[in-house]
Amino acid sequence: MKILNLPLSRSNVDRAAHIRSDQAALEAAWGSASIVHFNGEGFLVEGVSLKHITAKDITVPGERIFLGTHAGIFYFLFCSETMIGAEEDYKTLREISAGLSDLDVGLAVHGQAVAHWHHKTAICSQCGDSLHPALGGSVRRCINEHEHYPRTDPAIIVLVKDKKDRILIGRQAVWPQNRFSTFAGFVEAGESFEQCVVREVLEESGVTVSDINYLGSQPWPFPQSLMIAFEATIQDPESARPDGEEIVEIRWYDRDSLYADATAGHLLLPPVVSVARAMIQSWYGKDRPPLPGGETWR
Ligand SMILES: [Zn+2]
Repeated sequence: MKILNLPLSRSNVDRAAHIRSDQAALEAAWGSASIVHFNGEGFLVEGVSLKHITAKDITVPGERIFLGTHAGIFYFLFCSETMIGAEEDYKTLREISAGLSDLDVGLAVHGQAVAHWHHKTAICSQCGDSLHPALGGSVRRCINEHEHYPRTDPAIIVLVKDKKDRILIGRQAVWPQNRFSTFAGFVEAGESFEQCVVREVLEESGVTVSDINYLGSQPWPFPQSLMIAFEATIQDPESARPDGEEIVEIRWYDRDSLYADATAGHLLLPPVVSVARAMIQSWYGKDRPPLPGGETWR
């Protein structure tokens, strides 16, 4: 089994979950912590890195989220809409993630996912009371001790190949002309990953997959997905067709035609931080002319 080296899965932060329940330790850690700031949309940056600040730099109200430890240092996210730097010093995760260190990627991906969840999870769905952060921001609780945990939505993404080692990619109706990617979809309730792979590929492209192989997973906190990557082979490439609703166009590519279309501007490949790009790149190979593109889509 070949596991992909995925750009947003590079975290080397120890989440140190045992500290979350020790309020005194959290309070002491905050005083000496390295803190990254998130304003609800972007992170405070310095060049191409997250800017790491300390508690004494923070003079505005906001929420602290304990992210973990690395090399003996405690890391927190501080979340406030009020900015600590100038507006131009804030960048979105999509803009900066490809160039971040393993440490900063871990902090930013975890921080954004949990901050977004805090922001939209104000009310207890069991009793209707207000929720408040607890356990270092890893949980929200109401006055009746109902606990709510961050939600993660699993989605499969699959590189479809035929027996000639060509790949099949599709264009969604909402995407611009020539923008193509691999097939993907959310796992439904009561469904296994493998069942989801079969269903999504059949729904979107009309082909039945076999020989499913796991390739790895990557958090995708836009806002709360986890992408689970597979490759799958199909036996009947000639029956592939777009569903006409979600997918409006499909194309088969071998390596030479992919390179030719991408360099001629007839094909916009997915951004470099995406699982789709990593899967296509891994299939395409290293010892070939580099594929163009890879800028963020949004
Ligand atoms: Zn409640």
